[in-house]
This record gives sequence, structure tokens and C-alpha cells, in this order.
Amino acid sequence: MRPAAHDILFEPVRIGPVTARNRFYQVPHCNGMGRHWPTPMAAMRGMKAEGGWAVICTEQCDIHPTSNVTKEIRLWDEQDIPYLARMTDMIHAHGSLAGVELVHSGHRVANLESREIPLAPSARPVPGFLPFTARAMDKQDIRDYRRWHRNAALHARTAGFDLVYVYAGHDLSLPMHFLSRRHNQRTDEYGGSLENRVRLLRELIEDTRDAVGGTCAVPVRIAVDELLGPSGICAEGEGRDVIAMLADLPDLWDVNVSAWENDSQTARFAAEGYQEQHVGFVKSLTTKPVVGVGRYTSPDHMAALVRSGKLDFIGAARPSIADPFLPNKIAEGRAEDIRECIGCNICVSGDKVGAPMRCTQNPTMSEEWRRGWHPEKIAARDTDDTVLIVGAGPAGLEAARALGQRGYQVMLAEASRDLGGRVSRESRLPGLATWARVRDWRLGQIAKMPNVSIYRESRMDADAIHTTGASLVALATGATWRADGAGRWHDTAIPGLGTLPAYTPDDIMAGTIPEGPVVLFDDDHYYMGGLLAEVLRKAGRAVTLITPDSLVSAFTQYTLEQARIQKRLLEMDVTILTSTTLARLDANGTTVACAFTGRERHLSAASVVLVTGQTTDDTLYNALVAADAPSIRRLVRIGDCNAPGTIAAAVYAGHRFARRLDTAHADVADFKRENVELAAL
Ligand code: ADP
Ligand code: SF4
Repeated sequence: MRPAAHDILFEPVRIGPVTARNRFYQVPHCNGMGRHWPTPMAAMRGMKAEGGWAVICTEQCDIHPTSNVTKEIRLWDEQDIPYLARMTDMIHAHGSLAGVELVHSGHRVANLESREIPLAPSARPVPGFLPFTARAMDKQDIRDYRRWHRNAALHARTAGFDLVYVYAGHDLSLPMHFLSRRHNQRTDEYGGSLENRVRLLRELIEDTRDAVGGTCAVPVRIAVDELLGPSGICAEGEGRDVIAMLADLPDLWDVNVSAWENDSQTARFAAEGYQEQHVGFVKSLTTKPVVGVGRYTSPDHMAALVRSGKLDFIGAARPSIADPFLPNKIAEGRAEDIRECIGCNICVSGDKVGAPMRCTQNPTMSEEWRRGWHPEKIAARDTDDTVLIVGAGPAGLEAARALGQRGYQVMLAEASRDLGGRVSRESRLPGLATWARVRDWRLGQIAKMPNVSIYRESRMDADAIHTTGASLVALATGATWRADGAGRWHDTAIPGLGTLPAYTPDDIMAGTIPEGPVVLFDDDHYYMGGLLAEVLRKAGRAVTLITPDSLVSAFTQYTLEQARIQKRLLEMDVTILTSTTLARLDANGTTVACAFTGRERHLSAASVVLVTGQTTDDTLYNALVAADAPSIRRLVRIGDCNAPGTIAAAVYAGHRFARRLDTAHADVADFKRENVELAAL
């Protein structure tokens, strides 16, 4: 039985001509699949409908070749309707509503495929470093744009969408560019006063209502604060004024902060509900329903938001990725089963690198169609094996949980008293406390499984493993950071090793604080180097972070964190040397070198921290292989013990092992493939 306080989340809500069956609303989000892998994308959305989300939206949907983001979905013309209809069918099959976010990206895209000239309220180069310029739209361009948007809305209705968005969010679309004083320097009736700058947005809402308003709801997605203060759109200024001016014109307000880096902040920089202070005013200015986001995973928090009149719908992208069945679990009074998003943005990184989205918490994400993986269901066991898993990090815990769900007898042996492996260690670093959810959710599930036994303080060697009598053995014993500086830059040990005290991330996470001044060599490029610089600085050490890349924590560009990390380190007075590598160590410090010219200089230091490669310990695996014990039918390595990587990769490896009892490379792809380009030949 669910608590009565949560009932409010399951009230139906009217949105213009359509009705949502509850208050759970999956706002538009990218997923890296788009039109390149449209069936996996559709199946992913359909899974969320099955899990209880009442409204499920697409990612950005480009409306015309002058808005040509290559990987996203499109409604340029009729050709795009069939694969989007596949998505709406899968959503409707579970009684949910399908929404489409119609977008024209204006000056934000170079249109590399279509080769059309980008469009903008006022001429300007496209952002970044691509050598293209957007042209100022004349009156005919504006009329054309309104017609394209209208046509896309009509195509959306044909494809079966119930909600057709007008999008003015994230500094990513023409209506927002027209709204923005920064981007709009026009002197005609579309520029100057706010009344003029809002004109295009108003016209688009009216056009869309006129085209499809009888059958489809017309929501507006808008950034009400760019977090730029009064120079941008802000909640105390023009953000508020725009909502007041258009108050009841759309059927729903989908409100957030801009840009994407602000909207999708990670747990390292923002807690659940971080947007409330910026968007909370919207409901006081409209009678139409309002949806907002903020990485909501707590049903008490959600219900309180609705009850207090701050939001009508609980919007979610990431919580719906981490747990497509979040609404159903709350409905059934099983809130403790929610697989809570940890706020790491690995999902965003999938989209950024052009791969199907991955999720740290949900290994079935993007695998619904390709591998037929359901996030809640798994085949019952089909062998009588007893399984031993060695190591209770993310790989071992997920393998034990999923095998337990299949009905196998599982023993999980862990050397230390603590469970969680790297997740427990890393969750103690600044800002990463939510990462412990990877451990805690799995332990919570395993606690309900009488067929899974956990043995703490049980360091296993080959003999101990044989004694268990297990027929399947998975080694999930993790990896350690290299102490010799080898990694991406140095193929082998760094010269001068042994002359200067050198430490690894494992040492620092175990509580060692080296003598300062410290040189930290970050050849890893994800979060660890930047986080350890923060730890050492907070401990009062002078820190110089050197990295061969041109940015600190370069991979975090893909998790939308890079600018915040570099800013934080600079504000903490960490000295940052980019495009710089560590040449060698000596008793007085380090010799560093320009990554391009090799020009060297000496930096005095009392110690060095090496954040370079990681290594796995093969001893146990080799001993077991050599012993060739007939009782062990299969021996596999999973997670970091197989190849160090992300926590998401370790969880996936554990899950895959549980599904297939095998981690070997198959001779052919072991997932269904969809190649849209080939299909068109
Ligand atoms: P992964 O990310 O692949 O799950 P982790 O490093 O997070 O890897 O976790 C590995 C876990 O395995 C750690 O908790 C570690 O204590 C444990 N472990 C390592 N070697 C042994 C062993 N021989 N016996 C039991 N547990 C082990
Ligand atoms: Fe949340 Fe991380 Fe999963 Fe994204 S990848 S949904 S941020 S847990």
C-alpha cells in the first residue's frame, strides 16, 4: 500500500485537449540514438510508458534543413513520420501521451549535412570554432520559418503525437534567440522592446494552436533563467515578464534554467530540487499546468511540490533513465525499490559522443530493443549452477543482484568489511555522496533474496574458491591505480620514479595527505584528478595540476561539468598547467614539459600524485586457470578486474554476465542491429 500522501501524484491532469493519467512527465531529452537508431530509441520511450510515465517526449526534433543537428530526430517532411509513429505507437500501447519537441536551432548549428546557411535574429558566427556565420533573418525568412514550424506540427499530428511543443529553451532555439537581448539587435518589430522580442514566440504558439490545437496540446518549453543575472533572461526580470505576457496562451509551461549545463547539473554541483528557486514563480502567473525538473527521486519531495502549488507535473529526464519504472514503484508503494539517479551525467556523455545513451544505474538503458533487456524482468535461471562472485564493487553487486533475481544460488565474497568497492571509496570524495546509491540500491534488493549470501571479510584465493564448490565463478576484484605513472602519455614507468615521494588516488582515498607543495599529474582526464586537487587544497596543500590536455578533467565536457570544475579549482588557487606533461621526477620536484614543443622547466615539489593508468591483478585468475579445476564450469572476469573503466561499464559488465553467464567476445554482434542508411539503399 502506498502512503496516502503520494495519492496526489496519481491524479489525472488535463493539458489542453488531452489528459495525462498521472503527474509523471518525462520531459524531452537527448539519448544518442535519435534517427540513427530509431527503433531502439522508440523502444526506450515505450519502456518508460510501461513503467508509468504519463507523458513521454522526444528529444530535440529539427523542423527544417536550416536546422540540421545531424544525429537528432527530424520532422523535415513526410519521410520522417514512420519511425516517429513507431515511437508514438509504443507509448500509446501503455496508455501514455507522446510529446514532440519541435526545434529550430538557429545560429547554434552549422548545418554540415544540409549545407544551408544558419539563421539568426542578428548576424553572428556560429558558437565554438567552426568557420561558419549565421545570417540575419529578413521578414520573408520569418514567414518561412513560421510555415516550416506549422508544417512540422501537422506532420507531428500525423505521426500520432498528443503534445506538440514550441521550444524556447537552453539558448538553443530561434524563439529564445529572438527573446534574448544578447542575440537580438534588430530594429524592426521583432527587436528592441520585450514586447517585440517575444513576438515570434507568441506567433509560433498561435500558429501551432491554429494548426493542431483541436487535437494536440501545445506546451511551451522555456528557460526562465539563464543564471547570467540581469544581463540575461532571469527569474526576477525578463523571464518573469515573458511568462506574465503569455500567461495562458500555451496549454502547459515546461520551465527550466538555461543553458544545458545549468539545466542538467550533476550531483557534484547541485542537489535534488536545485531549480525550484528559479522556476517556482511560474505557477503564480498562469492557470495552465506547469512542469519542472530537478533530478527528483524522492516521492515525498514530489508530493510536497504538487501540494504546495509549485508544480503540477514532476518532470524528469535522468530519473526516468535511471528508473523507467519509478512511477509504478511509487504507485505500488514500493518507493524503496526505486533505482535512484546518482546525478553523474554518464547518460549525457553518450549523446555527446554520438553513442546510444548509457546509464550508471540502469544497465538496460538503450538495450531494450537491441538486446531485449527489460529493466525489471529477467529470465528465470536455466541451469543448476551455483555461482560465486568475488568482489562486491559495482560489477560484483550487480551480477549478484541480477543472478539472484534469476533464481540462482549466489555467494558474494568480499575481502573487506565494507561493501561497494570503488563506489564506496569514491562516494567519500567531495560532492559524490549520491554515488553510494549504486551500492545501496543493489544491497537493498539483495537483502530480499534468500538465495544470495554475502560473505564480508572473505579474501578469496584459489583454494578458498575451490572449497566453495561453485560451478560458475566471476572475478569482480577491481583494479588499482598505477604507482609508476604509466598511462596515456607514458607507455612505461616515468623516469626518476623513487626519487620523490609519489602517491596514487588509492593512497589519497585511503586517507593519506602528501606533503606539499604537491604536483598532481592528471593523465586520466575524467573526474579523479580534479577531485583530488580539491581534496589536497582543502587539506591546505599548495597544488599544481598538470595535464597534457588543453582542459582540466577534459572528459567532463561530456558530462557538462568541465567549466564548473576548472572554475572551482581556479577559485581554490590550484595552479593549473594545461598542455603540459610530466617528464621526470627528482629529489627536489618534477620536470614538466610542454606537450607540443617538449620545452622543459623544473617545478619544486615535496611530492607528486600520479593520476594515470589503472592496472588489474591477474594473479588469482591465472592461478585458477592453471589449476584447471573440473568443478568450475566457467570462470570469467567482470568489471574493472577485466578492464578498468567507468562505474557504468562495471555495472553493465555485471548485468551482462548475469544475463548470459559469459563475457567472452562472440563471433558476431550479440545484439540486434539497425542500420537506417543501409535499409534505404
Ligand atoms: P568493479 O568496479 O569492477 O566492481 P571495485 O574495485 O569497485 O571493482 O570492487 C572490487 C572489490 O573486490 C573490492 O571491494 C575489493 O575489496 C574486492 N576484492 C578484491 N580482491 C578480492 C579477493 N581476492 N577476494 C574477495 N574480494 C576481493
Ligand atoms: Fe542518472 Fe547517471 Fe543514469 Fe544519467 S547516467 S540517469 S545521471 S545515474
